[in-house]
Amino acid sequence: MLKLAVQKSGRLHEDSMQLLKECGISISNGANKLKTEAGNFPLQVFFLRDDDIPQYVEDAVADIGIVGENVVYEKNKTVDVVEKLGFGKCRLSFAVVRGEQYNDIQSLEGKRIATSYPYLTAQFLQKNKVKADIHEISGSVEIAPGIGLADAICDLVSSGSTLLTNGLKEVETILRSEAILIRNQQFSEEQQHILDKLLFRIHAVKKAKNNKYILLNAPNDKLDEIISLLPGMKSPTVLPLADKGWSSVHSVLSEDEFWDKIERLKNAGAQGILVVPIEKMVM
Ligand code: ATP
Ligand code: ZN
Repeated sequence: MLKLAVQKSGRLHEDSMQLLKECGISISNGANKLKTEAGNFPLQVFFLRDDDIPQYVEDAVADIGIVGENVVYEKNKTVDVVEKLGFGKCRLSFAVVRGEQYNDIQSLEGKRIATSYPYLTAQFLQKNKVKADIHEISGSVEIAPGIGLADAICDLVSSGSTLLTNGLKEVETILRSEAILIRNQQFSEEQQHILDKLLFRIHAVKKAKNNKYILLNAPNDKLDEIISLLPGMKSPTVLPLADKGWSSVHSVLSEDEFWDKIERLKNAGAQGILVVPIEKMVM
């Protein structure tokens, strides 16, 4: 049995549960429960505040956890980073009052900076030889300059709209973050075995998200050229169509080359191109 810590509620909760679901792990999520057990996988899930997750994993109260990199690096606990999970993306940035002049990080010298990330903020300022006064506050950091508590802030940003509505501008990014899977450093062989099984599924889910299944019709005299554009898992599948002189070609395309390839396939004579999402992909 492996014990997994996830955020109880908040920005990472839904995506964490969705990932487990896509891994075929069914969790009865009693919203107010502290913990629950998976029906069909040797996994116990603990619902906790995200700030507490690195500590729980370091202490082996939980064996693994899903939490933002920002929290892991701020708490500076001794845990292993196993996998980036691709959701909960944000950045930890300095922001100052919009009308204020800002040239570089030296502009923060002597300023009062409000943040929920005192460790990372101090580390960054020290590295840049800037002396500033750090005020740790636990929430609503963005209102600190407006109420006269601070001159600048260091806070999480994703779209930037919160900064905008509070009359602030982002001036320096100190960390890019996403949700990661962390683990305790002491693992038994059995625990590692379960983690490997979970990772196998996570990889299949991630891979599928980055790829699309593509079906198209090709005139046989253009088949070679069209096939040369398609990688496929081994090579594309080619099936004859009822219509003589035509074939149906099936393959897999990755997200980053997708539009470019579609255009070239079309130019090469492909017709009736269908693109469908892939649910799981095992190599
Ligand atoms: P908890 O009650 O668990 O302590 P919280 O209020 O500290 O929750 P949330 O606001 O739910 O935390 O954010 C959880 C995580 O989501 C952050 O630590 C960060 O990794 C990620 N995240 C992604 N985008 C943003 C954003 N725009 N602002 C804040 N966090 C974000
Ligand atoms: Zn938190």
